[in-house]
Amino acid sequence: MTALKQQLEMHPQRWGDPASATALPDSARGLIELAFGIDETPALDTVTVPRSALSAGLLDSLREVVGAEHVFTDDGTRRLRTRGKSTPDLLRARAGDLSDAPDAVVRPGSHDDVAAVLAWAVEHHVAVVPFGGGTCVTGGLAARRDGFAALVSLDLVRMKRLVRVDHESMTAVLEPGLRGPEAEALLAAEGVLLGHYPQSFEFATIGGFAATRSSGQSSAGYGRFDALVVGLRVATPRGEVRLGSAPANAAGPDLRQLFLGSEGAFGVITEVTVRVRRLPEVKLYEGWRWESFAAGADAMRTLAQAGLLPTVLRLSDEAETAINLARPDEIGAGDGQSTTGGCLMITGYEGTPEAVQAKRAAVTALLAGLGGDAVGEAAGEAWARGRFDAPYLRDSMLDVGVLVETLETATFWSNRDALYTGVKQALESRLGEGTLVLCHISHVYETGCSLYFTVATKESAEPLPQWLAAKAAANDAIVAAGATITHHHAVGTDHKPWLVHEIGELGISVLRAVKADLDPTGVLNPGVLVP
Ligand SMILES: Cc1cc2nc3c(=O)[nH]c(=O)nc-3n(C[C@H](O)[C@H](O)[C@H](O)COP(=O)(O)OP(=O)(O)OC[C@H]3O[C@@H](n4cnc5c(N)ncnc54)[C@H](O)[C@@H]3O)c2cc1C
Repeated sequence: MTALKQQLEMHPQRWGDPASATALPDSARGLIELAFGIDETPALDTVTVPRSALSAGLLDSLREVVGAEHVFTDDGTRRLRTRGKSTPDLLRARAGDLSDAPDAVVRPGSHDDVAAVLAWAVEHHVAVVPFGGGTCVTGGLAARRDGFAALVSLDLVRMKRLVRVDHESMTAVLEPGLRGPEAEALLAAEGVLLGHYPQSFEFATIGGFAATRSSGQSSAGYGRFDALVVGLRVATPRGEVRLGSAPANAAGPDLRQLFLGSEGAFGVITEVTVRVRRLPEVKLYEGWRWESFAAGADAMRTLAQAGLLPTVLRLSDEAETAINLARPDEIGAGDGQSTTGGCLMITGYEGTPEAVQAKRAAVTALLAGLGGDAVGEAAGEAWARGRFDAPYLRDSMLDVGVLVETLETATFWSNRDALYTGVKQALESRLGEGTLVLCHISHVYETGCSLYFTVATKESAEPLPQWLAAKAAANDAIVAAGATITHHHAVGTDHKPWLVHEIGELGISVLRAVKADLDPTGVLNPGVLVP
């Protein structure tokens, strides 16, 4: 488990714990120089933020609502609450553009505080951006501010309690500001775990997971975050909503689903009740090699449809297996190629010794029967060690002029190959020769799977428009293939233009109606999610 990083702040222009940032290893540098040429960027200077537009009168009234000590207008705090951590966010910050900085950062300590801030925002027509871990990669923290008296970041960092654990029902109530490791540490003290490990685990929060319908690396075993949620407490400008009074119900449509994925546009999630599991006694990860991506994907489908999913199940395509971007310490080792070739699959098992042994035996028999080669635990352990490292490598590559970004989608099994080919071709043809497009499958269902692409190319003189054009081409290809615009990164502002292809004009109209009812003056995250 990653060490607890309570209150640690990310650098405004980079990902993660500054102490974990590493320069590119010489071997990787050599490989990158060969592929793209090295183009050093200038040292990063401290970027200034615009003056706060919050008037003295508004500031005083906000201080009265939550206490002066919980309202911040200094540049340093506002800088840290500006946008998220997509590559476009980082490119803008690196170019000295923090123009989306909030006018103030307010830190409520309770549901009632949140409700009071929302009432204040409605009264003074101030835009409010709920802020969890700030790891958003779809522009969900870059709300529209025109037409509002000011824009404040509603920073949930003080709301970090494990409210209660029901050991009999195996549920826990968590406050939204708990980061992944903080939540797991509190739950572990009670002998239970949540099991939600997105790659942003170190910094992303419980509220953010719910608000974006996140999916973690162990989704095969523990489920997507929305599948873990039993109940929600939400503060809206119209009042409180409490949902989840039973494990299941038939009381009309499930309104929990209205707030899961609502990205701060319908309300602020102030409590999340989750299903928990007993702490696993055993964790075991191992590797499998497949001749091709198609053969490995078919094996995943067979496992899912046989009801035999391990806790972790992921498959890299040929390019990702060769480059192995997920293991920065090994990039460029040797000739940069995997010694085995083919496609690497990771299977992971967590639970009691008996459960792990039984599941592993069944999965092993099935995979071996389908033509997979077991390559041992070292490959699995290497993946587990480096599972949160890749985002640090993105910064190191941006430092030397290599544009790196990821995108994701999902589709049914029968459409997997068409989607894979369509997105890969769109990215390669838009970004030109020498572009690397890598892909893996890490979330599987009986009926289909997600595809997660990593793209690396040489930065042009204008990397932001370069990437935005490539991303638009990929989104068009996703829509043309009939797949989803997002499997787990959410909509934000970046995916919004493509949402209509997924839910239709009537679907958009339903979202607008809900927004108008819960947030009639539109102060919550204006311009995010709802077109
Ligand atoms: C390097 C990296 C790796 C990532 N890996 C994954 C991954 O493996 N799986 C995955 O699913 N995602 C991943 N993401 C995306 C991101 O981490 C998730 O979307 C995460 O759930 C966001 O949580 P957060 O606490 O950081 O939310 P934030 O970024 O702070 O907010 C996200 C959105 O939710 C809203 N929001 C936040 N908290 C609340 C609340 N309490 N109530 C209402 N609205 C709220 C915000 O206004 C915003 O619109 C990754 C991102 C990065 C940068």
